[in-house]
Amino acid sequence: MRIYNVLGYSILLVYGVLCALVAPAHFGPWLGFGIGAAYLIAGWFMAGLYLSDVIHMGIAHRALDYKPWFIHLVTFLNNTFGIYVNPETWVNRHRLHHRYADTDGDPNKLASDGFWKTLKLCLFPYACNENVANDSIFKTPLFRFISNPVYAVVSQVFNFALLYWLVKDLGYAVTLWLGTRIFAIWVNMVQNYWTHDKRWGYRRYEDADNAMNIGDWLPVMATFSACLQNNHHHFPSLLRLSHDDSEFDFGFMTVKVMRRLGLVTATRKGTELGPEIPLKSFNF
Ligand SMILES: [Zn+2]
Repeated sequence: MRIYNVLGYSILLVYGVLCALVAPAHFGPWLGFGIGAAYLIAGWFMAGLYLSDVIHMGIAHRALDYKPWFIHLVTFLNNTFGIYVNPETWVNRHRLHHRYADTDGDPNKLASDGFWKTLKLCLFPYACNENVANDSIFKTPLFRFISNPVYAVVSQVFNFALLYWLVKDLGYAVTLWLGTRIFAIWVNMVQNYWTHDKRWGYRRYEDADNAMNIGDWLPVMATFSACLQNNHHHFPSLLRLSHDDSEFDFGFMTVKVMRRLGLVTATRKGTELGPEIPLKSFNF
């Protein structure tokens, strides 16, 4: 089993066991485990919807056109009740990451950066010397409010306090809150480290960067398919990250559900298909 899978499943296993062990008496171990699982799944799903589907493919690459009220709702919910990720600075870093992938100017990781350095960069990325996130949505009141660093701190203190108030046990609340965020760091490492090192995954395109495709079930589920980095870096504006119907694409499945609900449509840019991409149709 690959190291990223070993670490991912281990984090989930330890988290599940701890949730049962430290669960307060009024819950007991099984309910303690169930509530812990629900908290992690809710946090993961909200973060995937927000970051991978909406901010990444909707705003950073403009491959998908979401209803503005839906973008605002998802941004508010994730950054208030879930794991805070500043939308404006993330889009800026992400565009620079594509422009300079794995070289000087990439805020996420340089080709020479190892595991521990990249882990540190997940929390404290390289400084950006350019601003390429001038989209009008970042000037709207809600985005300005949420992008303020004070909001980052207040929201995380607030949602921890809310969790503590709901479960009424400090140790259990810390286990859920911190455990879910440790899993989120692993998700971030799949995208920033393991899929940007040629020792792991596979390549469909021999491009100049180090981007790789990792197609295993857990990384695809956890990242909403953002681990198909070689496909994505080769053709960043395409609305899906799988380039062949044989590639499992959970993120695209969620986008298709949102399309059926009338929340999103494809942009012209998102449906431009390069001749080297083996897809016969988008199936969108
Ligand atoms: Zn991207």
